[in-house]
Amino acid sequence: MSWTIDKVKVLFNKPLLDLLYDAQKVHRQHFDPLEIQMSTLLSVKTGGCPEDCKYCSQSARYKTGLRAEKLLQVEKVLQSARTAKEAGSSRFCMGAAWSNPHERDMPYLEEMVRGVKALGLETCMTLGKLTDSQVERLANVGLDYYSHNLDTSPEYYGSIITTRTYQDRLTTIDKVRAAGIKVCSGGILGLGESNLDRIGLLLQLANLSKAPESVPINMLVKVAGTPLEDSEPVDAFDYIRVIAVARIMMPTSYVRIAAGREKMNEQMQAMCFMAGANSIFYGCKLLTATNPDEDQDMKLIRKLGLKTQKVRQSLTDEEEGASLLKDVMTMDDEKYYQVI
Ligand code: SF4
Repeated sequence: MSWTIDKVKVLFNKPLLDLLYDAQKVHRQHFDPLEIQMSTLLSVKTGGCPEDCKYCSQSARYKTGLRAEKLLQVEKVLQSARTAKEAGSSRFCMGAAWSNPHERDMPYLEEMVRGVKALGLETCMTLGKLTDSQVERLANVGLDYYSHNLDTSPEYYGSIITTRTYQDRLTTIDKVRAAGIKVCSGGILGLGESNLDRIGLLLQLANLSKAPESVPINMLVKVAGTPLEDSEPVDAFDYIRVIAVARIMMPTSYVRIAAGREKMNEQMQAMCFMAGANSIFYGCKLLTATNPDEDQDMKLIRKLGLKTQKVRQSLTDEEEGASLLKDVMTMDDEKYYQVI
């Protein structure tokens, strides 16, 4: 179904409880409503980015105190992936603060994808723009997801980023999609955008040739030194409303509560799950911003009677130990209660 602005406005204007009810019905038609997919995000190359995204601590243009680092060694990345798997994540996302990767980086990136996949985790990368041959190389090593946010509506985009166009982003998404890589793409609330911009963002995402399999909805994490450090906070109900509308517009996508979750109390997160969110970033660090403590997350999941999506079946004997972990992450296993 192709969405129009008028249809989305109807959703935005619904009383919140009606909207939540509708979103929950859609959610239950397509997903186990108690299952949450857990992703861990690691910054494999931090800081020094030439782009000028006004919200970002990693842009070299702003004085945020963040030190630029080199690409992490493959073994360090794999160590983090093992830890993420042991903590219950099913997907491992690797982010680099680049405009685009250099050819010299490709062999290392390929090795990272191969190594993380060998652990039985889904792989995701966010590396900026990609050439055709880079897309092909990542597809050939089996990268599962490419993450590339649209951030906001096409109309508001130019107020936030000037060094890369909206069309650049759409082109990158089309390229990875055409190569058979799944797409993770969403946006950020709290950039000073209007409700119409929020609608515009969701329209873009839902009307792509195929909606992204993962849709992260970020709430701005204000970083001192960036142009958006004094932005108005996002109202909790506005955020929940966007989650619910995203769920209805993209019924088979994983809708993720992404950056900013640290500022959300348990009740707000529970309402997001009611609204159809079924994925979270899990782990203490979200690129360069903090994320809620893992134990806190598992306590919330237990309190709400939710369960985490299991990691894929292991590929080697060495994985037997990890399958125990997989068991302890499941609510209906009594071992789960012992580790909390
Ligand atoms: S959001 Fe990404 S592309 Fe933009 S400045 Fe930050 S690291 Fe660079």
